[in-house]
Amino acid sequence: MTDHTPNSWDARADAHSFYGFTDLPTIHERGTVVLTHGDGPYIFDVEGKKYLDANSGLWNMVAGFNHPGLTEAAKAQYDKFPGYHAFFGRMTDQTVMLSEKLIEVSPFQTGKVFYTNSGSEANDTLVKMLWFLARAEGKPERRKILTRMNGYHGVTAVSASMTGKPYNALFGLPFDGFIHLTCPHFWREGMAGESEAQFTSRLAHELEDVIRREGAETIAGFVAEPVIGAGGVIPPPAGYFQAIQAVLAKHNIPLIADEVICGFGRTGNVWGAQTYDFVPDAIISSKALTAGYFPMGAVILGPDLADRLQVASEMVEEFPHGFTASGHPVGCAIALKSIDIILNDGLLDAVRDLTPRFESGLAELAQHPHIGEARSKGLMGALEAVADKPTKAPFAADLSVSERIANACTDNGLICRPLGQAIVLCPPFIMTDAQMDEMFDKLHTALGQVFADIT
Ligand code: PMP
Repeated sequence: MTDHTPNSWDARADAHSFYGFTDLPTIHERGTVVLTHGDGPYIFDVEGKKYLDANSGLWNMVAGFNHPGLTEAAKAQYDKFPGYHAFFGRMTDQTVMLSEKLIEVSPFQTGKVFYTNSGSEANDTLVKMLWFLARAEGKPERRKILTRMNGYHGVTAVSASMTGKPYNALFGLPFDGFIHLTCPHFWREGMAGESEAQFTSRLAHELEDVIRREGAETIAGFVAEPVIGAGGVIPPPAGYFQAIQAVLAKHNIPLIADEVICGFGRTGNVWGAQTYDFVPDAIISSKALTAGYFPMGAVILGPDLADRLQVASEMVEEFPHGFTASGHPVGCAIALKSIDIILNDGLLDAVRDLTPRFESGLAELAQHPHIGEARSKGLMGALEAVADKPTKAPFAADLSVSERIANACTDNGLICRPLGQAIVLCPPFIMTDAQMDEMFDKLHTALGQVFADIT
């Protein structure tokens, strides 16, 4: 049990720390889990309780919580050169090497990389690049950004405007000119009698209609996660990206893949775009880029956008944008090591090897009368709770069904995440088969407990 006494870690956390994305009444009742360390896929709290983290932190700690290669890379770089920026024609050797590596492992023959501290900032940076280009190319009206409902692109004001979540209205967002198309979730959004192919084609027509309504010359780009992550793990319907890209190409609108979650292995390939067989015009990367061992994001521009940005900033004006820690040498050294571990040390292979076990574990839990859909790609998956399976009717919101399941899991030593009425799992790539079994056993127990309570 969490210690709530006045000098407890829980009370101290609550006294002076403000939480994001946290339901405060629940936390006041349950207490804050204050963590001290990790070991492989496990984390430990101040009271010594051990949890299997089936969410890899926030999708990012793909190599677990104490990978010696990553901490050694960090220590070595801290000893050598602990910090520098990438402004005014200076950058560190690590930054140069990471950009070379990112282009090498990207789907692009050539390109350029811009560094940020987070995925949100990388999306903001991308949008500012598109806006800068539009003005430099004499098309200042080309500013609108297309994304999808339930797409998650971050929390800074621009990336939150891209995010297709109703809670952004609490901030008076989105800004004008951020347009959200239908979420490509066939199970939920498909119409009665509609096939998956017809659904895909309807979404492509919707895109075409929006472009015609808004005017292609006003649209700067379309940004999409290959698999929607924080919107509930939603793999696209078959042929979706091909259909969407064909429409965008007709109107010269760039397609940007937000690979913050999918990137570096999560879907079984380096990029989610590879898994879905398309080549975007740019990639947004973060999270597994440093295996979560350093806050870092990157905008990886393919040849067309990179060349145009180069011309614009040479011919028109310098690109006035950047963060103090853009291209931080410790972050870059960690990212180089992380990419090496994922690609050459078996982590990507591990994702592929673990995927069948992950899929069968989800499929087994989907037999439950209150699980309406199990969906996954690679090592990201979700189970959608439903009050009534045939009609897909959700539970009443005030039952907080997914939160109760996640809380029951936490009590039982498993961290998983409620998202809407789904429970999301995205285990680290280093999980063993036995740890997979532990994850599914604990989730099975929690589902049984919670559904018995509320039905
Ligand atoms: N894009 C995607 C696809 C994400 O999943 C996230 C974070 N979950 C972000 C952007 C924002 O990244 P950050 O939290 O590092 O700002």
